Amino acid sequence: MPERENQENPIPRFAADCMLGKLAKWLRILGFDTAYSNGWKDRELLSLARAEGRVLLTRDTRLFRRVSGSDRVIFIENDSFRSQIQEVISHLNFLPPPERFFTRCSWCNHSLVDFPRGEARARVPDYVFETQESFAFCPGCERIYWGGTHRRMAKEILDKIRLITECCSKNMG
Ligand SMILES: [Zn+2]
Repeated sequence: MPERENQENPIPRFAADCMLGKLAKWLRILGFDTAYSNGWKDRELLSLARAEGRVLLTRDTRLFRRVSGSDRVIFIENDSFRSQIQEVISHLNFLPPPERFFTRCSWCNHSLVDFPRGEARARVPDYVFETQESFAFCPGCERIYWGGTHRRMAKEILDKIRLITECCSKNMG
């Protein structure tokens, strides 16, 4: 789905290979448009990345070799998704602004839309409805998100970003 973006400084979009499901999920939470399916064959992944101008993220050396030389591929070296997030952010030297966080569905990559509180009553547990002010809806998989989920994830993300910042400044120093 095309999005309005600053043309001079577009936010990179990714296509992640089948070994990078957890990384894909976290990149979506951070606001990156990240295509992922564990059912794609290599050639499907490559043609999608090419057709949509996505940066390929891969842990597969064979796949990496097929596109190495291109600036549109990042080889992911680490096993842990925390380190993988660091690798991507360090490689790009870029992190989306916090207002982009939680604007995508972490499950299916769709952009989230505001969901009217009145309609949420029938769709979420009573205690959630009573305690939450705002809700968001994923038109792709029809999941509903609310502040509690977001706050918990925000804390995890902020902890990670601090880690990333420390790591980057150490590397630069
Ligand atoms: Zn979704």
